[in-house]
Order: sequence, then C-alpha cells, then structure tokens
Amino acid sequence: LQKLGGDLLILHGKPEELITDLVTEFEISEVYHHREVGPEETNISAMVEDVLWKQRINLKHFIGHTLYNKEDLPFPIKDIPDVFAQFKKKTERDAIVKACFESPASISFVDNENWGELPELSELGFSTADNISENIQLRGGEESGLLHMADLLAPGSEVYKKLNSKTAEKFSAKLSPWLALGCLSPRKVYWMIKAAEQEFGNNQNFSQILLGLLYRDYYRFMFKKHGIKFFQEPGFESQVQSPEKVDEFVMAQWKNGETGHPLVDQYMKELVTTGFIGHAGRLIVATYLVHVLKIHWTYGAAYFEEKLIDYSAASNWGNWANVAGAGLDLKSKNMYDLEKQIKVLEIDLPGVSV
Ligand SMILES: Cc1cc2nc3c(=O)[nH]c(=O)nc-3n(C[C@H](O)[C@H](O)[C@H](O)COP(=O)(O)OP(=O)(O)OC[C@H]3O[C@@H](n4cnc5c(N)ncnc54)[C@H](O)[C@@H]3O)c2cc1C
Repeated sequence: LQKLGGDLLILHGKPEELITDLVTEFEISEVYHHREVGPEETNISAMVEDVLWKQRINLKHFIGHTLYNKEDLPFPIKDIPDVFAQFKKKTERDAIVKACFESPASISFVDNENWGELPELSELGFSTADNISENIQLRGGEESGLLHMADLLAPGSEVYKKLNSKTAEKFSAKLSPWLALGCLSPRKVYWMIKAAEQEFGNNQNFSQILLGLLYRDYYRFMFKKHGIKFFQEPGFESQVQSPEKVDEFVMAQWKNGETGHPLVDQYMKELVTTGFIGHAGRLIVATYLVHVLKIHWTYGAAYFEEKLIDYSAASNWGNWANVAGAGLDLKSKNMYDLEKQIKVLEIDLPGVSV
C-alpha cells in the first residue's frame, strides 16, 4: 500500500464502535469485508453490519481465505462431506484451483495525515517480562511471506530432502502464520508449489503442504456449514459459557512444560517461547491434555488461541475437537492413546535411544 502511495489505517478499539465515525469522516459509501467463520468473529461482523445499516451503508461480504472458492466446489456448502477423506476425494477430482488475481497497479487513497501506529505489546496485554522471543524468520506481511516461500523452494533446501527423522523435529514448511493472517494467499502457495513440482518433480513434502491446504479449507467449510454444531458434544455451549472446574496446578504444569513427560514439555516450552510448534507437536500435547490429564479440550484450545502465532479459529478449534473426539471426522482410536500416537508419528522420546 505504501508503494502505491497510501497506507493501512490502524485504529485501536472495537470495529462496531469505530466504524460509524470512520464512515462519516472519510465519506465512505460502501464497506467490504472478508467474512470469517468462527462464532465470535461472525458476531462482530453482524454488529458492524447493524451499525452500518443505521447509516444506510451496505456491508459487502466476501468469503475468502480458502484455496477453493465456495462456488467452485462440486457441492453446495450444505452438502459438503463431513468426512475429510470424502471431501478431499471429490474436491481434488471435480474442483479447480483458480489462478491468482494480479495485484492492482494503482489504488486511489483518501487524503489522510494520521494512519495510526502498530500497538506495543504492553497495549495488547503482554508485559515486557513475558518470554516472547522475536523470531526474525516470522515477520508479518506478504513480502516477508514471499521471501519465506523463496527460501523454502530454493534448490537444495529441506523441502527436497526425504527426512527420516525420528526426532521431535519433523518437516514443517512453517507457512501457517502468513496463511492465517492473510499475508499469503493459499492459492499463491498452491501455484508456487505446483511450479516447483513441474521443475523438480513431486515429493513427499510438497504433498504434505498441499494436503495441509486442503485440511485448512475443510475446517473453514465445516464451520461455514455447521457453525457451532460442528462440535458433536452434548453440553458444548454450556461448557464454553460456564466451564467445568479444572485443576489449575495440573493445567499450569502443562502450560509451562513441567508435566514430566519429556516430549510434551519440550513442545510446550517451544510454544510459549516462539508461538509455533509443528503438527506432530500439536497432536502430542493436545492428546496428552485431553486423554492423559483428562482436562476438557476447550481449555487447551483457548490456550492455543492465546499463544499461537498462526491462530485461526476454524483450524484450531476444529483440530482440537477432532483430537478430543468431539469433531465430525473421527480418526482412529490411535488419536486417543498418547503412546500409540507417538509411534504413529514416528518420534523417539528425547534422551531415550531405541
Ligand atoms: C490441536 C491443534 C491445533 C491447531 N491449531 C491451528 C491453528 O490455530 N492454525 C493453523 O493454521 N493450524 C492449526 N493446526 C494445524 C497444523 O498443526 C498447522 O497448520 C501446521 O502445524 C502448520 O505448520 P506448517 O505451515 O509447517 O504446515 P504444513 O504441513 O507445511 O502445511 C501447509 C499449510 O496447510 C495448513 N494445514 C496443515 N495441516 C493442517 C491441519 N491439520 N488443519 C488445518 N490446516 C492445516 C496450514 O495452513 C499450513 O501452513 C492445529 C493442529 C492441531 C493438532
């Protein structure tokens, strides 16, 4: 935006409270937004829509963020298969991934002196004492996301190597922070991977990334289709509104990586210090919380929501629900047994040689 002579307006506050003055100040005649699928997010959209309606302004919705356009799926939202394997089979067979739009060469901006400032961490409720390491590899913005893609696909990089690692470190493209915040479009990632496949041949890591993009779409479409009914748990809403009591001491041990389980502790410490752990790590710590500590999964999902740098409502709550057996696509019973889960993921415990 700055290169095109404008900027992004940054305001602190609630959208439904700020939008009225914005519309008046900048004489806005139409408001466009990307529709989200989580209940809290859609509720905010509804409040903004109400406020705008009073000013006789229409809020125009777009459903974005996904690899496949809703219109390009081989079924209407209400008929999307609830089982991921069926969604995958039919979508890959009958739907197309569209090309990316070109970036606009020019945009007309309103005259504005003050574009606002990014808030300091303290304004977002973090104390400077919080142990948040600044991860230079995870800088926001599309430019940084594209640099990450370029590194990922550079000849000789990890993505071309067959990793038979049995350590906690599995191949992870680490694309989710940019995808979650809309800095990178899933379509762009898809077509860049396809181009690399053409040039260097298909491999397991490319397939993992493309499968991940499909999972991402699946969870978003599931929430679009079912809303909160995605959670097949009697009493889910009352659990969220007035949660069952939790053993705070045990919960704190899990959060701080002090459970005594070496793998769980390693991943939880990584989560707190970097805001990111790979998929295997998320499965392990979630399985441990739910099936070993027997703590309700919503506590884990809420903690991930607070800590993850790639937090995304549908992916986070959808994956947690599946680990807990409260989702719609129930996996094998291995999901509920930590030791079997570790075996399936082919990880050796740290410090234990097998
Ligand atoms: C308990 C739990 C909570 C999770 N919470 C989130 C979350 O808040 N945000 C989030 O983006 N992912 C979440 N995931 C999914 C997944 O773990 C991360 O997307 C992945 O680890 C990101 O690493 P990557 O970019 O290297 O993934 P890759 O394997 O390289 O996959 C490429 C992309 O596909 C998407 N993706 C991959 N796997 C999944 C999946 N199972 N579900 C949805 N999308 C997927 C991500 O956008 C990812 O960047 C969660 C998984 C679990 C088990």
